[in-house]
Amino acid sequence: MIKIHNLGFPRLGEHRELKFALERYWRGEITQDELGRIAAELRQRHWRLQASSGLDLIPVGDFSYYDHVLDTSVMLGVIPERFGSSTGFDTYFRMARGQSTDGVPFRACEMTKWFDTNYHYLVPEVTADQQFVLSSTKLFDETRELQAMGYQPKPVLLGPLTWLWLAKTTSDFNKLDLVDRLLPIYGEILHRLADQGVEWVQIDEPILVLDLPNTWRNAFESVYNRLQSSPVKMLLATYFGELGEQASFACKLPVAGLHIDLVRAPEQLTAVLDNFVNHKVLSLGLIDGRNIWRTDLNAALSAIADARERFKGELWLAPSCSLLHVPIDLEHETALDPTIKPWLAFARQKLTELEVLRLAIEEPAAAEPDLIVSANAIRSRRESTLIHNPAVQAELAKIDSSLTQRQNPFPVRREQQRAKLKLPSYPTTTIGSFPQTPEIRKARADFKRGLISETDYIKHMEHTIEFCVREQEKLGLDVLVHGEAERNDMVEYFGEQLDGFLFTANGWVQSYGSRCVKPPIIYGDVSRPKPMTVGWSQYAQSLTDKPMKGMLTGPVTILNWSFVRDDQPRSTTAYQLALAIREEVNDLERAGIPIIQIDEAAFREGLPPRQSRWQTYLDWAVRAFRICSSGVNDSTQIHTHMCYSEFNDIITSIADMDADVITIETSRSNMELLYAFIDFNYPNEIGPGVYDIHSPNVPTTDDMIALLKKAGERIDSDHLWVNPDCGLKTRQWQDVRISLANMTEAAKALRSAAG
Ligand code: GLN
Ligand code: ZN
Repeated sequence: MIKIHNLGFPRLGEHRELKFALERYWRGEITQDELGRIAAELRQRHWRLQASSGLDLIPVGDFSYYDHVLDTSVMLGVIPERFGSSTGFDTYFRMARGQSTDGVPFRACEMTKWFDTNYHYLVPEVTADQQFVLSSTKLFDETRELQAMGYQPKPVLLGPLTWLWLAKTTSDFNKLDLVDRLLPIYGEILHRLADQGVEWVQIDEPILVLDLPNTWRNAFESVYNRLQSSPVKMLLATYFGELGEQASFACKLPVAGLHIDLVRAPEQLTAVLDNFVNHKVLSLGLIDGRNIWRTDLNAALSAIADARERFKGELWLAPSCSLLHVPIDLEHETALDPTIKPWLAFARQKLTELEVLRLAIEEPAAAEPDLIVSANAIRSRRESTLIHNPAVQAELAKIDSSLTQRQNPFPVRREQQRAKLKLPSYPTTTIGSFPQTPEIRKARADFKRGLISETDYIKHMEHTIEFCVREQEKLGLDVLVHGEAERNDMVEYFGEQLDGFLFTANGWVQSYGSRCVKPPIIYGDVSRPKPMTVGWSQYAQSLTDKPMKGMLTGPVTILNWSFVRDDQPRSTTAYQLALAIREEVNDLERAGIPIIQIDEAAFREGLPPRQSRWQTYLDWAVRAFRICSSGVNDSTQIHTHMCYSEFNDIITSIADMDADVITIETSRSNMELLYAFIDFNYPNEIGPGVYDIHSPNVPTTDDMIALLKKAGERIDSDHLWVNPDCGLKTRQWQDVRISLANMTEAAKALRSAAG
């Protein structure tokens, strides 16, 4: 009989119960015991739900109070020195949040993206003389809790090599040297689980889908050779991509089973079967754990049939990866368009799909009705007029090089922009948003709920814009913004006004800790029924003689922060978004806005796990950006903004975007980003952020002068802009005022020094 199983379940609860409980605990409103009770209830509810879908093995250990990578570090006793030696609950949250209940500030562990998802994990920190001690009983306790309910547990463990790969070293040494000390702890964990009666353990090693150096590949062989003496069966789980050239050795590792992602990499089935042996379990990840579309069950069945033809061993079926990345239950979406709703599947519906797949193999006749429902839903989606917009497709077919090319090269544009804008050297600007005060949030919420009229809402927003413009004038900034008060989120704001988008009421996905996002769903061809930002920008420009910068979110960022339709290449959806944004850019220009910023905050995030696929992504991502920005006259200045400090490896593509000005995050890394400019002469203008808006500290004029001087060593001073490193919406006005005043002082000082 084919087994079905799950790699992990969302933790926070369908009504984000854990989020609210955690936040109450942090505020001191509930005790640790109460928090523990709520967490246990959630775990048990999720286990029951998974068991009722017929899963043979239920994951345990996927639950976390904050993050599973942090849980692993704590289990291994890896607690950076600054947190002391205690391994209690308090220490755990200090590592995660950098705050202690007694008000002592701690430097929290760094947080970064989990592979190419929007989930963030806490980066383990290891030292050259790192010791490991089994320091937590969480996994054993939760396993016992699940066993007590009578279910078959499959503990989930982050694999030793992936954990180590994700760790940062505090000094220069080879992390792999720590394996000898690390492995005994893993051995101990596996032994204890075996003693508790566990048969299967899932060991996650997603780094097997990355480009691995040879030393790491070899480490896999030696690590799993040593772990194979453990008295449990290991299922090695890989996900988020293809094993590629690593397939042959991954298939031969001495483990009892291997899980592969057949959603991201359906073509890897052949290579895996070429190398697989019949005595092992092969787990097929056929249900998309990263997206919210209903599975084409008939297509999945034919993949299973292919596998069965060539493989006579034991097959398991599962989602492609943990369901952490999708919302829990579609049933809560009572307001969704009834045509579209059946196209979707959230975590709970995905588990049902798994059950149907098994049934279709074991008892085809019994599964028939479900397969027909699924096939109908797939057909309805493919053929729906809601999806296809002939006008958009006609525009798409017309994209050619004339749409991706500004009228003239940068040096020519620059002259025209200089003549028009008459900016001083070291021009000052901000990244777009100004503090979102409680009054602003209230006005938006009241309008959404229909408590205030549109006229009153517009009046309120115009008042806010005027305040913001006057503040910027007082500060002496050179290029002003309207402040983005009307936006609660830089993607949602545009998604809500574009056709082809859908918003859920309760489609929350964990971003980090207690924080969730509710990604928009792009279900159909994207188009722009009417201008989205022009009114606000135009009003703002009418208040001042200073140039106003229009503010848009770029196509790649909208794409990377949404659930995207999977019936066409992502690049096609990106181009549709680009055409819509292009119309907005052109309308802003027509409305007299001289400078337009197209934010691509998430540009880098879309890079595929394998470097060999980077160029393809970069090519279409850059092209999408250029479609947006190329419809304007030479004298209109295009800015872009990116908020990450690592782009040395993609700098040529960034330059290919050909924005007249790029503003970037650099202040935190002390201008490290500018190393990219040692070998590469960035041709256009650039504003390396000099004010770290993520820190509560107010930067001094001297700090910023020093940063700008450092930047001046790499970048021609007449190409330099002076700006913060990101939007100011999370800050308070009193800090922003002082910081920006210091920033404009810094610019003045440099101007007079230059004479
Ligand atoms: N324009 C946006 C803002 O200022 C940019 C946000 C971002 O880069 N994350 O808020
Ligand atoms: Zn930013």
